[in-house]
Amino acid sequence: MLAGRGVGPGDRVALLLPNTEHFPMAYYGALAIGAVVVPVHTLLKADEIAYVLGDCGADVLVCAGPLLEEGRKGADMAGVPVLTVLDEEGARESRLDALAEPAAPLARCLPRRPDDLAVVLYTSGTTGRPKGAMLTHLNVTMNIGVTMLSPFDFTADDVLLAVLPLFHTFGQICGMGVCFRAGATMVLTSGFDAARTLDLMVRRRCTVFMGVPTMYMALLDAAARDPRRPALDRAFSGGSALPVTVLEEFQRTFGCTVYEGYGLTETSPVVAYNQRAWPPRPGTVGKPVWGVDVEIARADVEGRIEVLPAGEVGEIVIRGHNVMAGYLDRPGATAEVLVDGWFRSGDLGVKDEDGYLSVVDRKKDMVLRNGYNVYPREIEEVLMRHPSVAQVAVVGVPDPRHGEEVCAVVVAGPGSSPGAGLGARLVDWSRERLAAYKYPRRVEFVDALPLGPSGKVLKRELVARYGG
Ligand code: ATP
Repeated sequence: MLAGRGVGPGDRVALLLPNTEHFPMAYYGALAIGAVVVPVHTLLKADEIAYVLGDCGADVLVCAGPLLEEGRKGADMAGVPVLTVLDEEGARESRLDALAEPAAPLARCLPRRPDDLAVVLYTSGTTGRPKGAMLTHLNVTMNIGVTMLSPFDFTADDVLLAVLPLFHTFGQICGMGVCFRAGATMVLTSGFDAARTLDLMVRRRCTVFMGVPTMYMALLDAAARDPRRPALDRAFSGGSALPVTVLEEFQRTFGCTVYEGYGLTETSPVVAYNQRAWPPRPGTVGKPVWGVDVEIARADVEGRIEVLPAGEVGEIVIRGHNVMAGYLDRPGATAEVLVDGWFRSGDLGVKDEDGYLSVVDRKKDMVLRNGYNVYPREIEEVLMRHPSVAQVAVVGVPDPRHGEEVCAVVVAGPGSSPGAGLGARLVDWSRERLAAYKYPRRVEFVDALPLGPSGKVLKRELVARYGG
């Protein structure tokens, strides 16, 4: 269908699709004819969609069912034609007919060179205006084959519960990419709901789960109400820090190994992970992936990379086959992050003597209280150990006396009553376990933390809410 519309090598095919079979069909269809895929966040509104379509110079937007209305509006604004793969009623039979009907089988895939562009992924927008990270076929292929497939023994017998959005690097390159390469099965579902996810994993006999930490926490909650257990063999966590308590409880509850990794959209995505070979060390993100250099550099030095020794906290910098070609049409932003042949991650980390990497926090999430650096993640780990805390996000809010104050935003666990009493107990709990300059003086309770489209906590929303 794409070829019939004149789409060819190097053209940009934007996809606005939920997690249905149409996503891989359109994705691999576009790659097969040499086009570049630009997945669009499914939660974007028309003018945000128009921004992405304009920014990447989309030649066509492939769009589906419930997303059609917003997608059409955005495409109209950007003057981009829309290719609909689903009928508007979304009836399953006619959807597939609509996709299959005009397409003649492709004789062969167009060969691509390693440095040809494969996908442009827009950063998830938890900070600033989205930029398109240009990933090459080499970037994507290495992450799939060398980083994920072999070390974790994916086979055609694996069944992945694919609930991470396919437009995001984690669900797309680690999830879908690896499944297609291994010939494994994907159970596709959109919009995370823990009870439904658990039910699907049991009924569809899933062997692999991939998710972000908030999903792990919610699944444990669901497992407390549903005694059935899926036959999970391994689970992968990334995207933000997985508290050790959650990792351990998940392993106990589901009888599988949880491998935590660390990555970014710009690094296709995996940089370091825990895996069988070294062996896993909970609380760290393991060691750098094969063929990729990861070092800790001084964070306050601009324009060059000054590597620090083991044990010192600094900015995580990355060099190797996984680093993007740059941000599309943004030489300034590219030059800020690609320095001296290294990619500057914007994350703070530390390596131990054995080479295990720990992510301390994002540089931009660090709290400066009375001139001291406070890393929210450390405080989150302490609060997660309290039995009344189900989820927590720690942020810095402006404070006239201390510059910034440490504020913990808490979702109370089942059976605990949020309020001043629990707030005071949590402050005491932290004071006993953390230095005086770090422990949170302020505790706020919420029913749920605000989450971005990939399930990550939107800390800047919390800062806006409590920072006034
Ligand atoms: P944006 O770049 O638009 O602000 P984002 O940073 O969430 O959005 P992603 O590429 O989805 O974009 O996420 C990468 C970030 O996720 C990393 O820079 C890091 O801060 C965080 N991260 C990923 N894995 C881990 C992990 N295991 N522990 C802690 N943080 C992690």
